Amino acid sequence: MTAAPASTDQRAREVLKTVWGYGAFRGVQAEIVRTVAEGSNALVLMPTGGGKSLCYQVPSLLRDGVGVVVSPLIALMKDQVDALRQVGVRAAFLNSTLQAEGVREVEAALLAGELDLLYVAPERLLLPRTLDLLERAPVALFAIDEAHCVSQWGHDFRPEYGQLGVLPERFGHLPRVALTATADDRTRADILRVLGLQDAPQFISSFDRPNLQYRVAQKEAPKTQLLDFIRTEHPGDAGIVYCLSRKSVEETTAWLAAQGVDAVPYHAGLSPRERNHAQDRFLNEEGLVVVATVAFGMGIDKPNVRFVAHLDLPKSLEGYYQETGRAGRDGLPGTAWMVYGLADVVNVKRMLAQSDAPEAVRRVEAAKLDALLTYCEAATCRRQVLLGYFGETLAEPCGNCDVCLNPPRVRDATREAQMALSAAIRTGNRFGAAHLTDVLLGRETEKVRALGHHQLPTFGVGQGHDEKAWRGLLRQLVSLGYLAAGEHHGLSATGKARPLLKGEATLHLREDTLAPRPGKRDRVR
Ligand code: ADP
Ligand code: ZN
Repeated sequence: MTAAPASTDQRAREVLKTVWGYGAFRGVQAEIVRTVAEGSNALVLMPTGGGKSLCYQVPSLLRDGVGVVVSPLIALMKDQVDALRQVGVRAAFLNSTLQAEGVREVEAALLAGELDLLYVAPERLLLPRTLDLLERAPVALFAIDEAHCVSQWGHDFRPEYGQLGVLPERFGHLPRVALTATADDRTRADILRVLGLQDAPQFISSFDRPNLQYRVAQKEAPKTQLLDFIRTEHPGDAGIVYCLSRKSVEETTAWLAAQGVDAVPYHAGLSPRERNHAQDRFLNEEGLVVVATVAFGMGIDKPNVRFVAHLDLPKSLEGYYQETGRAGRDGLPGTAWMVYGLADVVNVKRMLAQSDAPEAVRRVEAAKLDALLTYCEAATCRRQVLLGYFGETLAEPCGNCDVCLNPPRVRDATREAQMALSAAIRTGNRFGAAHLTDVLLGRETEKVRALGHHQLPTFGVGQGHDEKAWRGLLRQLVSLGYLAAGEHHGLSATGKARPLLKGEATLHLREDTLAPRPGKRDRVR
């Protein structure tokens, strides 16, 4: 008697184990693999790092023929293919980096049925020659990676992706699986329409990482704050500290090392050897802290990173999500910790104002920055703000972010905002936070006297609060768009400030910026 044929699930687990050496699928992976392996279409929405690749790689191995992967990331194709070959998968790619000879070899292998996976750039796929070839070759399925590129609504629109309707037209009998990490409702609708997936099952994973604790604090003495954080909460743990510049990476590393924290630097200015060395140490040692620019982290999969700290603002909430997502991959608690201050906000706003990128690009960037600052200034659950940005609703506050654990009080700051705005206006909308604070506090500095600002009605009206409080208020006013940051860090009142100044609008802000300084603030644990 022969044994009953193994179920798709069993065969999938076997492939996962024998080829990749993994013991189990993660979350919805198993269901997606079964669906696609059995010949159905699918839409997969999963955060970066969630494990999208296996969702088409395993079905490609389970089905007869080659899995054709459409990807716009030409620069990554070679690495992906090399990694697959290392585990014994017969993989190849077709893109503009190949010479004619290389193309012929891949095409021959394709027709001979000697490939399990073929990565193709969209412009290459759309060539009549490639499409004809695919019609004659044994194809198992089509995977459309970074599927949001079909949509004009995103910032990643690729015209070639817009033409992928050729797949349902000419290959309608083959399963298509579209995968992406970013898709709002409009983008999702475009993906379904262009790729003909209206009736396909959709697999939408949550972006929530419940084991990560999100925290944002005001930047005061960043290095000391960082050291304090590491010593009290993560002594001896592996972590990543992100800084904006190479210089601050070097300085922070040296400082941490001098304080007895095992730390190495990582940035694009180091030699490939030094970078590989840092990366290897991080992967193989326990409890190493890597201080890095954003250059670090792509493709790093260390499960027991216990914290990710930002000493400078990330570029966007997408970037923040990806960077903090490197903590706690093993599911155990991790901390996403960040400090930021007025100077950071002024800097990024100024860079944006001075950028000579096309108007449309600048608008998208400005919107992204606003979303990031909204997150930073949030007086409501940070996880709700973060997930909300990715189109997901978290019904209840999470209970595992600084706002939930230590709720800030919100108070009416209309009067103080009026004072600060009129200080900016009366000094000519061109001075930075330091000078405005001097004026508000009534400090007769040399600069104040030279400019005659001690004679302004605003001079000294802010003595009820201290310097830190005013800087905090100014930061929120810049973050929220009441003040714009221009050249030489100068702050100017915007149109949004007018109703506030006229008393037609009120402003409620987090109290921590204007409260009389309490004793040592409770530490969030
Ligand atoms: P994405 O494409 O969604 O960003 P990847 O497919 O690159 O994510 O997967 C991210 C990492 O997770 C990879 O290192 C991958 O090997 C690993 N991974 C994915 N699924 C599993 C699994 N079931 N078991 C163990 N590791 C996994
Ligand atoms: Zn929360």
